[in-house]
Amino acid sequence: MLIFQNVEIRYKSGNVAVSNINFKVDKGEFVYIVGPSGAGKSSLLKAVFKEVEPKKGEIFLFNRNITRLKRREIPHLRRQVGVVFQDFRLLEEKNVYDNIAFALRVIGASRKEIKTKVLDVLKIVGLEGKGKRYPNQISGGEQQRVALARALVNKPEIIVCDEPTGNLDPTTSDEIMDILNKINLRGTTIVMATHAKDIVDKYRNRVIAVQDGSIVRDDAQGGYSD
Ligand code: ADP
Ligand code: ADP
Repeated sequence: MLIFQNVEIRYKSGNVAVSNINFKVDKGEFVYIVGPSGAGKSSLLKAVFKEVEPKKGEIFLFNRNITRLKRREIPHLRRQVGVVFQDFRLLEEKNVYDNIAFALRVIGASRKEIKTKVLDVLKIVGLEGKGKRYPNQISGGEQQRVALARALVNKPEIIVCDEPTGNLDPTTSDEIMDILNKINLRGTTIVMATHAKDIVDKYRNRVIAVQDGSIVRDDAQGGYSD
């Protein structure tokens, strides 16, 4: 599903974010990327949806080398990867329904198809009936559910989450984790960067620990720090 081979990412400043990164994620896995702030977690995720380009090494996704895609190939790739951020990144001037429908309208889906798909994902994230609300009319947890619904609506095989519970209280974080687990049980691969120790220790999954730009641990059913 996803393979990193000797990946190095550096920024224009010359900053090496990660180097010599090797790992493989199989279809259906749930993987946490853990580590302190600045370790390189976000950079790894950004390389998956092509927001950064590796300086060295290769990345394969869906059996395809995505290391050197042409610019015009990137939108197609991004539609196959659901992405969720810590700060939700919803369009404030659009309601919940339209935030989710947006990605489908871009690809020219019919109005009927959009409606079916949007209502379907609203149900999966437990937001039936909230389509007409605006982001500033719902809670942070609900906003993150909308972001999850938006990530899911194209039925991606993989979802990449960068600190999805970072802005949420523990109860709300548990609700988001319940949805992610449900999605994962349906077969969707999940790669989630987090430094939420309580969550990693509570919902045991594979843990890849990153420190100073290197993988220091890769445990099948690890905890946050052991
Ligand atoms: P994490 O997600 O674990 O906090 P990041 O991947 O964001 O780590 O950062 C890894 C390293 O890359 C850090 O040293 C950070 O300062 C640096 N970095 C991240 N983004 C940029 C950027 N846009 N420009 C320059 N350096 C960056
Ligand atoms: P458009 O005219 O943009 O294609 P629709 O005719 O599907 O959109 O719907 C008009 C608006 O009504 C949408 O932009 C959306 O805000 C809202 N809407 C439509 N269907 C639903 C629904 N089932 N639940 C919540 N809101 C909906």
